[in-house]
Amino acid sequence: MKKFPFALALHGGAGAVRRKDYGREIAHMRGLVEAARDALAKGAKALDVAVETVAALEASGLYVAGRGASPNLAGRYELDASLMNGADGRAGAVAALQGFASPIAVARAVMEKTPHVMLVGEGATTFARAQGFAEIDKPDGFFTQAGKGEHNHPPGVLAHGTVGCVVRDVDGNLAAATSTAGVFQKLPGRVGDTPLIGAGTFADRNVAVSCTGQGEYFIRVAAAAQIAFRCQFLGQTLTEATQAVLDAVGKLGGDGGLIAIDAAGELAAPFLGEGMKRALLTRDGEILSDAF
Ligand code: ASP
Repeated sequence: MKKFPFALALHGGAGAVRRKDYGREIAHMRGLVEAARDALAKGAKALDVAVETVAALEASGLYVAGRGASPNLAGRYELDASLMNGADGRAGAVAALQGFASPIAVARAVMEKTPHVMLVGEGATTFARAQGFAEIDKPDGFFTQAGKGEHNHPPGVLAHGTVGCVVRDVDGNLAAATSTAGVFQKLPGRVGDTPLIGAGTFADRNVAVSCTGQGEYFIRVAAAAQIAFRCQFLGQTLTEATQAVLDAVGKLGGDGGLIAIDAAGELAAPFLGEGMKRALLTRDGEILSDAF
């Protein structure tokens, strides 16, 4: 098969359960990979593709992120997102952002329009409003579709709807982006791995990573950065590094998965437990979209 000079992976969250039919999500993810492939073929940059793909996942309402977000224990929607550009190490993030349809777009603005990496809570909301980002217009553009009927989980259980994307573009640059409403019934103010650079999201010149799972465990092993550092300093392959980090998460009692890409366009998308919604475009131009 023809080698493509680009590749990507996206996920719609770990914790997929076997008795559920994810046909809609699988088809949706495949469509997004096709759109991303076409954009990359025209020279789109890794960061733009990663952010646009995550924004489309947020906007669909099919995942527990963006418009499909689930509420915290106080009934409020606190959303987290982050992104990182491998070529120059720039990053942006928001945590516990309330009321906005696309946290990843706000995270990008934090990176591009402030001297900071992360804004949280009220400060993030004030910033997003001042930047004119779309607010959730209830009940039409509502938080929740994906989450409906899935919200009555015990506290801390995986939302299985975090979304993320990692991309290698035609120039060999890498980027990662991740967005979530966090775990079900989280305490107000709880922040997981998703908006933390080095935990849920990381990209440098060699590797880009987006994680999904019980964020507390991914934070404790510095999951995304650890993968990059294993590749850089231990000379491990992407497969070896991602598996080692998931093993470490599992050893602590955690659960989840991740997607990762390296500068050669090699992909890894491993997960613990039953499944993870994911879609890949390989360097061979092959598209794979599944949940288990
Ligand atoms: N990692 C996310 C968090 O802990 C949840 C998930 O991926 O399902 O907030």
